[in-house]
Amino acid sequence: MRLLVIEDEPDLLAGLARALRKEGYAVDTAADGEDGLFKAEGADYDAVVLDVMLPRLDGWTVLARLRARKRTPVLMLTARDASTDRVRGLDGGADDYLVKPFDLPELLARVRALIRRGAHQPRPALTIGEVRIDTVARTVEHAGAVVPLTAREYALLEYLALHRGEVITRTALYEHLFGDEDSTLSNLIDVHVFNLRKKLGPDVIATRRGHGYVIA
Ligand code: CA
Repeated sequence: MRLLVIEDEPDLLAGLARALRKEGYAVDTAADGEDGLFKAEGADYDAVVLDVMLPRLDGWTVLARLRARKRTPVLMLTARDASTDRVRGLDGGADDYLVKPFDLPELLARVRALIRRGAHQPRPALTIGEVRIDTVARTVEHAGAVVPLTAREYALLEYLALHRGEVITRTALYEHLFGDEDSTLSNLIDVHVFNLRKKLGPDVIATRRGHGYVIA
């Protein structure tokens, strides 16, 4: 899952990016509204965390311009406790909001929920045959036994499972699993699929030649 965080407070931006990367997300960052909107329009993010008070373009403007073109799930960070801010955000097309200061676990839970809703999968557990994915604990079981996965393997499996039945091209997988700062050497989608099949069985992920991968 690839996220964009738009936040002008350097410490908060760095802290959020670090925490989200630790959760296995690919994270891009923007420190002002103009750069944030440019990135949000240019890539296919699974969710955007958007601060309201931003230089160049404020969060409201970024949201309005993004919504004119894209349905990317947006979690707004509002500094003020005024309910008018929350109403304005939700009316403007935000999917959720969080009032600063917030607890990190709550932000992580809301991001997970946004991604699930964006994929029309409201339940936190996904089952594919004998494979069970717990998207809250980020653990995977096969026939009742926990299977250790790397962060990349988990992200790839979760993305395909959330978009079950859709053939996902390698290009789309790169876009959703790797951020701007990831080195290309780590972008070995085929190797991750090979390893997932070794760990979970050969039939979990199907290859569609010339197109990509699918969980049927
Ligand atoms: Ca701010």
